[in-house]
Amino acid sequence: MNVHDSERLSGLLESSGYTPVVEGVVPDVIVFNTCAVRENADNKLYGNLSHLVPVKEANPGLQIAIGGCLAQKDQGEILRKAPWVDVVFGTHNMGALPILLERARFEQEAQIEIKEALEVFPSTLPTKRDSTYAAWVSISVGCNNTCTFCIVPALRGSEKDRRAGEILAEVEMLVAQGVLEVTLLGQNVNAYGVEFGERTAFADLLRACGKIEGLERVRFMSPHPKDFTDDVIEAMATTANVMPQLHMPMQSGSDRILQAMRRSYRQERYLGIIDRVRSAMPHAAITTDIIVGFPGETEQDFQETMHVVREARFAGAYTFQYSKRPGTPAAEMPDQIPKEVVQDRYVRLLALVNEITLQENSNLIGREVDVLIAEGEGRKDSTTERMSGRAEDSRLVHVAVGGEVSPPRPGDVVTARITHAAPHHLVADEIVRIRRTRAGDLSEVEKPAGVLLGIPAMPLR
Ligand code: SF4
Repeated sequence: MNVHDSERLSGLLESSGYTPVVEGVVPDVIVFNTCAVRENADNKLYGNLSHLVPVKEANPGLQIAIGGCLAQKDQGEILRKAPWVDVVFGTHNMGALPILLERARFEQEAQIEIKEALEVFPSTLPTKRDSTYAAWVSISVGCNNTCTFCIVPALRGSEKDRRAGEILAEVEMLVAQGVLEVTLLGQNVNAYGVEFGERTAFADLLRACGKIEGLERVRFMSPHPKDFTDDVIEAMATTANVMPQLHMPMQSGSDRILQAMRRSYRQERYLGIIDRVRSAMPHAAITTDIIVGFPGETEQDFQETMHVVREARFAGAYTFQYSKRPGTPAAEMPDQIPKEVVQDRYVRLLALVNEITLQENSNLIGREVDVLIAEGEGRKDSTTERMSGRAEDSRLVHVAVGGEVSPPRPGDVVTARITHAAPHHLVADEIVRIRRTRAGDLSEVEKPAGVLLGIPAMPLR
């Protein structure tokens, strides 16, 4: 969400006449798009801002703007702590950035504007996309849940759904521009439609994406187990371009902790969804998010999480040590777990996750996979040149391209045979064929460095 917002801010600035600077040149404007979900987001922001003091002193015309969730949370506090900042804007009024910059310049005074509710769905803003072959498409913003560890509802507001016609028009436009893959984005994609009372809206949207010619890969992020219905599984399994991949945040395997987290599904339901997804799509790669050390978590609760990890056999898991987010109910709960206990559980969880993901990845050795080559993920070592990308099930694959006369470009699709597995990636030393795409042609056009400094988000749920 944060990364896609950065693309919007970038597009907004360009459409207002700003141009990207080349690397090494001091820009006229620096924008920090902050994410409050990350641990220590505020320390990182204020640390970065203090580094800019000498730059600002040497370049008095330089403007610094702070947006995103941390700006929505800290508001005027930012100007008190860093009075050299020129503009502070919130999550609900990204579109105001160019005007606020202009006003700050004209009035020679810092501007702060935070709105408490969304006025315009942000997808109407111009967007400068980072990639020629893959794109984020927002289907909703905000969240109606109240998970006790999460700051999102307080900063992004309640769920606002975008009309299906608008979403599909944006996807069609992207495909016409050469995009092969879209990721439908929302805090809780399965709840999509709640605003206009259509229970099957998300499954219908997946099916409608399946009819868009030229759209090769559809993904979504993130579903909530509470709202995951069988018609979504059916739509995933029967829509050819919906990829065999599911990222479904679990957070804890313990029913007691899920209740304390105010996540209204239980272990049995979570594992039931996984079973049904696997019977409909046997090759689906299922990944998750897990928090260890939530307040009150006992060793028995932790063992419940380990049990689900063993049963679910995840293809990957983002594992987090619980840490307080000021402003959330969990931050005030008694029984906060000592750091060393959290660390010990985290190490054991990670070892189990890595053991299972290595086993699961090893099962793919010898198999041919289609890899959409990604930008900037190329890896070189002393003997082999590799380019990287995602297989259909979203596994990261490093493809050896050293021997190719005409190597693939970002956006091309490579069919390759898996020769080696590791817990977090696969290696393919044998290319079977390369399919050149229009996105690949476009990726050869040189792009200048952006004007925007972003603090990228980590998936939380
Ligand atoms: S964790 Fe996800 S579902 Fe829960 S409140 Fe936060 S955004 Fe909503």
